[in-house]
Amino acid sequence: MLWDDFLNSEWRDWRGSGRSEDRLERKDWVEELIRNHRLRVSALPTAQEMDKLRSFRSFLLGVVRSIATGEALHESQVKELNRWMEGGPLVRRLHAGMDGPMAIGYRPLESGWQGAIAEIAGSFAVTLAEGEASRIRICTNPDCLWVYYDDTRNRSKRYCDEKACGNLMKVRRFRAKKKQNDSSDKQDEPK
Ligand SMILES: [Zn+2]
Repeated sequence: MLWDDFLNSEWRDWRGSGRSEDRLERKDWVEELIRNHRLRVSALPTAQEMDKLRSFRSFLLGVVRSIATGEALHESQVKELNRWMEGGPLVRRLHAGMDGPMAIGYRPLESGWQGAIAEIAGSFAVTLAEGEASRIRICTNPDCLWVYYDDTRNRSKRYCDEKACGNLMKVRRFRAKKKQNDSSDKQDEPK
């Protein structure tokens, strides 16, 4: 989805090296986001647009954080989300092929980053309205904090990736337990 791809522009090294990167500053990353989500922008964000993107990102991340901990959406958050969406009005368009099914589409009225932010905000609003907010998660590996939507049937996805963060945390738990056992063994030893 567009909104979680966007939020994950705040990248952290999940292996715990402490390295992090703001991928909004990476040309190739931004170009891929534009391409993958067909955003109607023709240039990389200017410094001013970058400020807007970052301020929108921290707002959105704040909302995701509170939702992920089980909190209900605040009225003020709904208002602010609506404000971000108002920045990019849409026009309706009927797509009718000769024999294919007809579909209605929405196209941003103007191109540019303000419209793109509205698109991102809109994709989040669609998830809240049509998906399940309770499936919005933040990876429980504290070094990772990747944002994702848990689409597993039993809602059991605790990590962004079982093989990566899941295994890493398993190893960490094992080591912590071993360390604890080792030190209690020593205490039991006769002096
Ligand atoms: Zn993770």
